[in-house]
Amino acid sequence: MDISIVIPLYNEAESLPELFDWIERVTTEHGLSHEIIFVNDGSTDNSWQVICDLQAKAPKVVHGIKFRRNYGKSPALYCGFEQAQGDVVITMDADLQDSPDEIPELYRMICKEGYDLVSGWKQKRYDPLSKTIPTKLFNATARRVSGIKNLHDFNCGLKAYRRDVVKNIEVYGEMHRYIPYLAKNAGFKRIGEKVVHHQARKYGTTKFGLNRFVNGYLDLISLWFLSTFGVKPMHFFGLLGSLMFILGFIAVVIVGFGKLYSMHAGMPYRLVTESPYFYLALTSMIIGTQLFVAGFLGELISRNAPERNRYQVEERI
Ligand code: UDP
Ligand code: MG
Repeated sequence: MDISIVIPLYNEAESLPELFDWIERVTTEHGLSHEIIFVNDGSTDNSWQVICDLQAKAPKVVHGIKFRRNYGKSPALYCGFEQAQGDVVITMDADLQDSPDEIPELYRMICKEGYDLVSGWKQKRYDPLSKTIPTKLFNATARRVSGIKNLHDFNCGLKAYRRDVVKNIEVYGEMHRYIPYLAKNAGFKRIGEKVVHHQARKYGTTKFGLNRFVNGYLDLISLWFLSTFGVKPMHFFGLLGSLMFILGFIAVVIVGFGKLYSMHAGMPYRLVTESPYFYLALTSMIIGTQLFVAGFLGELISRNAPERNRYQVEERI
């Protein structure tokens, strides 16, 4: 099979029949064999009924996964990826904001141009200003942190992947915003971009509020930490801990020797607790020790992580 189209959805009943017809039109026109995997993320409207009707209409093409409750877009993508069979896996939003007309070109870029991942770029967006401006900032930060310099739109719902990619990354929590970063960390280097058409939402409302940006930044920091120190947490905590400890030690030397010197020289001297260096020494040595303890705990945890020895082996001969 050429293409698996994975569509996560949460209360998008009105859009689904239109989206399905459009995908069918495009894929038949280009002679692409495909499957559509609708992942119903605990919708409370009649989305699942609509999916069942579509399935009855095209039983070979349409597959559905129904979550018992709403888990989020990343879990929906994860389950869709797990099931996908096609050589190329394409994800798109269910709200008709992403155009199925892009599918053939995305497929070509993966198959012919050798990309592992092609991300859509909604160069001209039809979203409110309150979303487009923070998005620009968000993408600039994501580019810096992830080191994927050529992407303008990390969180575009329309993306295409070589099958290997989706089978070797694990999207979880709200990490769907950073799938290119996950792919890069898994060793997939050929990450490209294609300008895609974007439309205003036709039915329903957006499922993410402004807190997406706060959570997005926190997730980016977590991902950076995990990819840099995930299997060697001591290198992070140990360094900080040592710096704190050294700072504390210097302060101790200043206090201790200062007092001894004053005593020796017969000068007036104070109690060590009257010196600010005493408190500096105390806090930095305590914090330093705690950072070390955090490092040891981190090592214990990562020592027990099932992924500690999971590597991306591309080939063996
Ligand atoms: N979505 C989902 N689970 C959720 C929230 C959203 O499956 O908990 C789906 C939603 O139905 C849509 C896609 O994720 O197909 C993108 O959501 P939305 O269009 O609301 O995001 P926006 O376009 O505002 O970024
Ligand atoms: Mg949308």
